[in-house]
Amino acid sequence: MPTETFEFQVEARQLLQMMIHSIYSNKDVFLRELISNASDALDKLRLESLRDDTLGADVSDLHIAIEVDNDARTLTVRDNGIGMSYDEVVKLIGTIANSGTAKFLHELKQAQDAADADNLIGQFGVGFYSSFMVADEVTLLTRRAGESQGTRWTSTGEGTYTIETADDVPQGTAVTLRLKPADTEDQLFDYTARWKIKEIVKRYSDFITWPIRMAPEPAAQAGTDESAADTEGDGGDQPGPETINSMKALWTRSKDEATEDEYHELYRHISHDWMDPLETIRMHAEGTFEYHALLFLPAHAPQDLFTRGQKHGVQLYVKRVFIMDDCEELIPEYLRFVKGVVDAQDLSLNVSREILQQDRHIQLMRRRLTKKVLSTVKDMMSGNPDRYATFWKEFGRVVKEGLLSDYESRDAILAVCSFATTHDVDKPTTLQQYIERMKEGQEHIFFMTGESRAAIENSPHMEAFRAREIEVLLLTDPVDEVWVEAITEFNGKQLRSVAKGEAGLDGEDEKDEEAKAEREKQKEKYAGLLTWMTSHLGEEVKEVRLSSRLTVSPACIVSDTYDVTPALRSMYEAMGQSLPDTKRILELNPDHPLIDSLCKAQAEREADSDLGEAAELVHGMALLAEGGELKDPSRFAKLMADRLQRTL
Ligand code: ADP
Repeated sequence: MPTETFEFQVEARQLLQMMIHSIYSNKDVFLRELISNASDALDKLRLESLRDDTLGADVSDLHIAIEVDNDARTLTVRDNGIGMSYDEVVKLIGTIANSGTAKFLHELKQAQDAADADNLIGQFGVGFYSSFMVADEVTLLTRRAGESQGTRWTSTGEGTYTIETADDVPQGTAVTLRLKPADTEDQLFDYTARWKIKEIVKRYSDFITWPIRMAPEPAAQAGTDESAADTEGDGGDQPGPETINSMKALWTRSKDEATEDEYHELYRHISHDWMDPLETIRMHAEGTFEYHALLFLPAHAPQDLFTRGQKHGVQLYVKRVFIMDDCEELIPEYLRFVKGVVDAQDLSLNVSREILQQDRHIQLMRRRLTKKVLSTVKDMMSGNPDRYATFWKEFGRVVKEGLLSDYESRDAILAVCSFATTHDVDKPTTLQQYIERMKEGQEHIFFMTGESRAAIENSPHMEAFRAREIEVLLLTDPVDEVWVEAITEFNGKQLRSVAKGEAGLDGEDEKDEEAKAEREKQKEKYAGLLTWMTSHLGEEVKEVRLSSRLTVSPACIVSDTYDVTPALRSMYEAMGQSLPDTKRILELNPDHPLIDSLCKAQAEREADSDLGEAAELVHGMALLAEGGELKDPSRFAKLMADRLQRTL
């Protein structure tokens, strides 16, 4: 096949431009990215050859080699892993598959300084392209395991790349960088310096479980021509290369055998995150089912946390051999942001997902990991409240999904939840703290769901609670609409929506004989109005009744205790499910002059059409006050205009 020239996809081109004119301060990481790719390629080959014994691949000495040519000023990272076919090179190297890239590029352009840019690049893991920070030409030579034909890809990163087939290519991938001249100002070395390479590998890639080899310092200065010649070959078979990483799996080391920095590097390798994790969790279980786990709680949520099919962050190893990424059997969906490694002793190397799903030990392990993650968060609440606040801000919405899916952990999850509250504008509260502040005689934990704090606070349902200074939790995440339907209590206290059912202002009035008598009187007074309005608005509402939750507004709409709220209904509808229509309840404020007048008018005149329209308007206003939609807005506007006109 002749050499073909291709253009980079637009996003890829933009990204490359940024790499070339590097706004990125820490260029060393290009090596980490290449080694990380090589390590993945070795993992893939090992797995594929376990599953397919006809692959015909050489798996006898899987490793990564770093080769330096001082004269040509090139640096090569070579692996004998899975390699890529011609088509794969076109697909994987010429384009950027990640859909978040456009957004990333946009944010990168906005980034104020190099530190910002570093953070962003870390979050997106630009991988292979980072080579262009240090190289003015990159060549990738690769042959897929089991295939005979190789492929050569070359580019200077300026707009186009070429691809051609190549013969006699060793299995795996070699990426060769023609290094840019060393920066004069701040660089006393360049990337051909062995000590520098060793240092970078030690810092970023020490835990890689494959050997990373490099030829020793050429003995050229010492004068033996042969050994100097050895290092100039195309690598692979150099005599006496040195393994420059320790390969020791971090998770099997004891606590004092590993530094925090090392843990963080492993985290980066797994997560492609530039920031340090919030927490590192180590676990070790012995006995019939032995395993090590090293889990991380990230400091920020990834872009795609709520994208369907988002990958889970936990990798499975068996006896220190990488088995699979994205192991959803090990950690529940609602903890999908947890990153890390689980290394089990007693599984077979070719364990499949189907087997994992049925394995009793795996299920037990998953429960333990879940428990440990939740207890770590709990400890964070008391031990490091700031860190907890960050965690909750980033991941609270996801954790709350567990209230619906993980029955067994409900209490543990509720215990680490915090919610916005009327008690404090800035600081969320836990349920326990709420309970400790409950008023004498208050029996329920009150909450209201809604779109925003402002929308909830302005809703008429809150009036009586505000007047009596009863704390209400303000639940504004979509998932809140759902879990509050399923969970009715915490630590013996009932959870109750202020917008549903009877206000239930906790017996206070019951104890007060005077108030009780007053209520009875009102009931009598309004009985006629309520009966008439209930039948007049019967198409729209289930019932019209007196309210104990209003102080200022004339009326409000509430849902019946077990009925679906409008927000939940629209969520179901957005998912394509339709629910049977449910009517809601109109509550009237007996102390409001408008309601009083309505009552008098109804008693005097019986129902004429004027009164009927007034009732409609009261209902419409109640709907508008909670941010709801009118069935016939133009009719409402017309009725309103007529009345206004009459007042002028
Ligand atoms: P990422 O590693 O984040 O996916 P890269 O741009 O670094 O992004 O690589 C893109 C893809 O190219 C990889 O996902 C992998 O499929 C392939 N690739 C890169 N390097 C190698 C390699 N050394 N061996 C085999 N495939 C590779």
